[in-house]
Amino acid sequence: MKQNSQEKKHIVILGGGFAGVAAALNLSQYLEIDDEYEIILVDRRDYQLYHAALYEAATTEHGYVEGKKLKRTLTIPLAEIFGKTKVKVFKGYVERIELNDGKVVTDSRIIYFDYLLIALGSVADFYGIESIARFGFTLKSLEDAIMVRNRIEDIITKKDSALIVIGGGGFAGVEFAAELRNLIKKECRHHGKRLDSFKILIIEGATTYLPGLPEKVSALVARRLGQMGVEARFSTLLTEAGKDFVLLNNKEKLECDLLIWTGGVRSCRLPVDTDLERDKKDRTNVTEFLNLKSFPNIFLAGDNGCFMDPKTKKPLPQTAQEAVNQGKHAAKNIFRTIKGKPLWPYHSASSRFVIPVTGKWAIFYTPNLVIPGFLGWLIRRLADLRYFLSILPWPTALNFCLF
Ligand SMILES: Cc1cc2nc3c(=O)[nH]c(=O)nc-3n(C[C@H](O)[C@H](O)[C@H](O)COP(=O)(O)OP(=O)(O)OC[C@H]3O[C@@H](n4cnc5c(N)ncnc54)[C@H](O)[C@@H]3O)c2cc1C
Repeated sequence: MKQNSQEKKHIVILGGGFAGVAAALNLSQYLEIDDEYEIILVDRRDYQLYHAALYEAATTEHGYVEGKKLKRTLTIPLAEIFGKTKVKVFKGYVERIELNDGKVVTDSRIIYFDYLLIALGSVADFYGIESIARFGFTLKSLEDAIMVRNRIEDIITKKDSALIVIGGGGFAGVEFAAELRNLIKKECRHHGKRLDSFKILIIEGATTYLPGLPEKVSALVARRLGQMGVEARFSTLLTEAGKDFVLLNNKEKLECDLLIWTGGVRSCRLPVDTDLERDKKDRTNVTEFLNLKSFPNIFLAGDNGCFMDPKTKKPLPQTAQEAVNQGKHAAKNIFRTIKGKPLWPYHSASSRFVIPVTGKWAIFYTPNLVIPGFLGWLIRRLADLRYFLSILPWPTALNFCLF
């Protein structure tokens, strides 16, 4: 893919997650009849991972755990998304991004770019505690979900009692704890074990679940999890982990059979050849147009970018909704750059979340409205369907949603 002046210009998108897919689809539409530009999307995998389904996958009921089926519920093949577009998908691991030379070095080839969008996502944040990274399980990939699922089945099959510790009572910890409780219930029934001997304990540093959201929402979650028998310790930190224990900041040592770490994420460290300004979560500072100040043809979207929200004076949250919106906006600004038009500043849409707490029960939250229960769950299913319809032909999208 060495570039010369006669060749097409290359728009390269790194990452086929929420931001990268949205950007590539939009650019493909903008440049549909323009043969001068080639759009190349690079990802180490040949699918998009649908993160929101990871908890359910990690807690699939006994007998249902079939790798192929699990993969189908969690992953969307990039070939299905881009089959009828002008986007070329290249499976490769990005090793180095040379900003000054306009090239991306992957594990198998070098790709030159004229315009670049970086959307490589995030990794688990262990806050520098090496033992938690070593002994804790995370939920960031299909392989993680399968590993956690198998470990839980193993524990219930072999033991009569166990403690499962979840580090972090944010969105991930809460959703996972609820699904896990359900799974344990079913597995205990299946193996003839006593449910009350298998405990789930959430350790959260803040004073409530879902820090940052209003107390009304945390209280709803606390009630639902409490009814299910999930226990929690607030204002408490995990400081160390071992093969069969965790240590708390009050020096208490708890014997534990499994530690799941959902305590936070940080942007992956971008393999760039230039020192770029980053925040403490490794997110790279971007301008109001989502590009780099010193490289205006290079854009960032999703979990990699640090975009200061002018209203809250805080970086925007790392969510799928933000990633999609930023991906679309970056595509628009790349197109405007190509056409020599002024760029448009990015404005984040108001925060909306759906927090599923197992079964057909979820909390839909906006700053002005909170809907808990079945209706919240229905809104979540519709949001899932809306997303699938935005990236797949409708029969495939429907099939995916009903799977
Ligand atoms: C378990 C879990 C559940 C979540 N649930 C929700 C939810 O319910 N709602 C919500 O709004 N958000 C949720 N999130 C957050 C949301 O998924 C992220 O904010 C979103 O995925 C960010 O999008 P992105 O495009 O920046 O990164 P991603 O979607 O993670 O995409 C990054 C892509 O880059 C690729 N990549 C990374 N490094 C390389 C490399 N070196 N070479 C090649 N390819 C590479 C990856 O394979 C991946 O496809 C969840 C996250 C997790 C982990």
